[in-house]
Amino acid sequence: MFLRWCSACYDGQLDVAATWLEMFFCRPKLALNSFALATNLVCALSGQSPPIEKPRQVSLEYMGAAGWRITDGTTIILIDPYLSRIIGPPPPGRPVPHVPGDTRPVYGWDDAAVPNVTSIDSRIKRADFILVTHTHYDHVLDVPHIALKTGATVIGTESTENVVRAYDIPEEQLITVRGGEDYNFGTFTLKVIPSLHSPLDHKHYFSSATAPANMKAPLTLRQMHPEGSTLAYLIRFHRHQILAFGGMNYIEREIEGLRPDVVLVGAGASRTEIYDYTGRLMRDLGFPPLVLPTHWDNFLVPYEVSQQDSVESLQSFVREVNAISPKTKVIVPKYFELIPLYTSRP
Ligand SMILES: [Zn+2]
Ligand SMILES: [Zn+2]
Repeated sequence: MFLRWCSACYDGQLDVAATWLEMFFCRPKLALNSFALATNLVCALSGQSPPIEKPRQVSLEYMGAAGWRITDGTTIILIDPYLSRIIGPPPPGRPVPHVPGDTRPVYGWDDAAVPNVTSIDSRIKRADFILVTHTHYDHVLDVPHIALKTGATVIGTESTENVVRAYDIPEEQLITVRGGEDYNFGTFTLKVIPSLHSPLDHKHYFSSATAPANMKAPLTLRQMHPEGSTLAYLIRFHRHQILAFGGMNYIEREIEGLRPDVVLVGAGASRTEIYDYTGRLMRDLGFPPLVLPTHWDNFLVPYEVSQQDSVESLQSFVREVNAISPKTKVIVPKYFELIPLYTSRP
């Protein structure tokens, strides 16, 4: 049947192959989907069942701040990708860093938010989905450039989507969520979880601001920084459940009973403002096998500058996890080093 189908269509095949190759180089996600569709069609015509998709190796990479890349080798999901690492306004209580020889400009709140495209383009070639936890510049500044370059779907709050819209990203690429959704994307499913921002400035940080519609690029850093409420994400990908936070807080009732095998836990110093932050988290999640600390580095300095001070501060978090959940493995990630997942839960 397959051969007959092929020979009957032989004249058209070269055109189809050329179109598919063109698609593969221009729109790889579309090409792979169309290839999968064609495979299923051939199988249906020949009376065979399509091959059952085997679980694939999932791996993660830390990109600094709250940024991660998660992939199974085909689908690429980014979380809060922030590779520009500009010298922007520091979080409350942190000084503007002075690195000898660092001649980069210092940005104020009313300066245009200009991404470092050299840094982004050298490290991000493809992406299918970008999940954004909240609208702060260290989470959203690079998202318009990455979305335009890759065609990735951007998932985030109305505030985040309004920031991205200012850069004329097509509406088909935008999925607005508020928390509570549980969506199926085929290769993975995504539970969107209402969450809370880090209690910065000794709990005085609070923002009910949200980015308005109809803004026009280029935005200032202030326009990119209204929070617009905070989300967490549970990504079910092959046999893994990856729970990703974008900062140092959570709503306990929203996460109780989840059983992720990997948790990206906000591990910056402001977590100590919260009552039993690590203990409640570990118990609520049933003592997850793997914890990867996130949002603990100094994102105002380039990747090449030592993070030794931040790594030392992080040790108190590692000890907290070890004390409450001795079987949990904690990996302190290095930038862009692959962390393959071997853990899973029944
Ligand atoms: Zn923030
Ligand atoms: Zn942040």
